[in-house]
Amino acid sequence: MAIPLSSREPKDEMMWAYSKYGNYLVRSAYLLGKGANLDEFHEAWVDIWKMEVIPKVKHFLWRLCTATLPLKTRLRARHLVEEASCPWCGQAEETMFHLFFECVKSRTLWVDCECGAMRCADSSNTLCDIMKSWRKIEGKVKQRGVYLMWALWADRNAKVFEGKTTPNTILVDRVYRWAEEYNRYAARIYAKKAVNGARCNKFWKAPAAGVIKINSDASLAVEGMVEIAEAKSLVFALEMASRFEVNKVIAETDSLTVVNRVSRGVIHLTKLDSILGDALEQSTCFSHVHWSHVGRQSNTVAHNLAKHTPFGSQQVWVNHSPPEVSSYVLMDMLTMNE
Ligand SMILES: [Zn+2]
Repeated sequence: MAIPLSSREPKDEMMWAYSKYGNYLVRSAYLLGKGANLDEFHEAWVDIWKMEVIPKVKHFLWRLCTATLPLKTRLRARHLVEEASCPWCGQAEETMFHLFFECVKSRTLWVDCECGAMRCADSSNTLCDIMKSWRKIEGKVKQRGVYLMWALWADRNAKVFEGKTTPNTILVDRVYRWAEEYNRYAARIYAKKAVNGARCNKFWKAPAAGVIKINSDASLAVEGMVEIAEAKSLVFALEMASRFEVNKVIAETDSLTVVNRVSRGVIHLTKLDSILGDALEQSTCFSHVHWSHVGRQSNTVAHNLAKHTPFGSQQVWVNHSPPEVSSYVLMDMLTMNE
């Protein structure tokens, strides 16, 4: 099926995160070949995706887990650089353990960011081991610890490539600010609870004044990938709504999977999640988004329109509707006066 997947076109190196059978498995097979414990990677993957940080930082952690972050010691092992000393202290080699946990630069920052319990003291631990020990750490503390690692990596890069160093006090402020920004964003986007109206709503229900309800649905001539098509139709509906510059939105679909996934805001590694990622991104242009699930009988306009519109063709009707669905539109309009 030629459904274009993600409209964001993630970079090549990001693709593993969004494809069910893509690079993640290729990578896993590679790691397996090296004798790595796949279960461990899978667990690390789950831990990372539960973390309350932006995707870029999750990706960074995953690179640390899979030993693909370009630390100097790794580059030297591949004969890409000759020296591998720590850019901050010059007293030790730049390993994951030294850079993030042992160096005089990073050591005190764990305490300053009030996540000292996360600091690893054993140089033989991999990040997978370290993350296991983090499971008992409270979410917000863990969030700061992870943002601290990200801040350290950014500062390390600034030092290596531009010779710049940022004072620790500023790094601490940065960590707290990032955590706060993420939490504000998450509260706005992810905390919208799904409403299951399937059992009670026999008819489509008009939204409150000032709120626009967008109903979406997909119809496939052949079985399979229904949820992907449903998710694509949701993204299209959100795009349409943003084009009309509406503010408060109820996004309604009869796909329970889509609503459940998108309202939790957890993005895993399937094709479906790639599209739901688009939906979440698209939803940031509204001041308020409410994800709503309804039964098919309450989504009749979208459902019948989907049946009558060939896939891939884009048609927009404004202030009138195609005859195939006009009776359903009329039914919905009647509920507006109730
Ligand atoms: Zn150092």
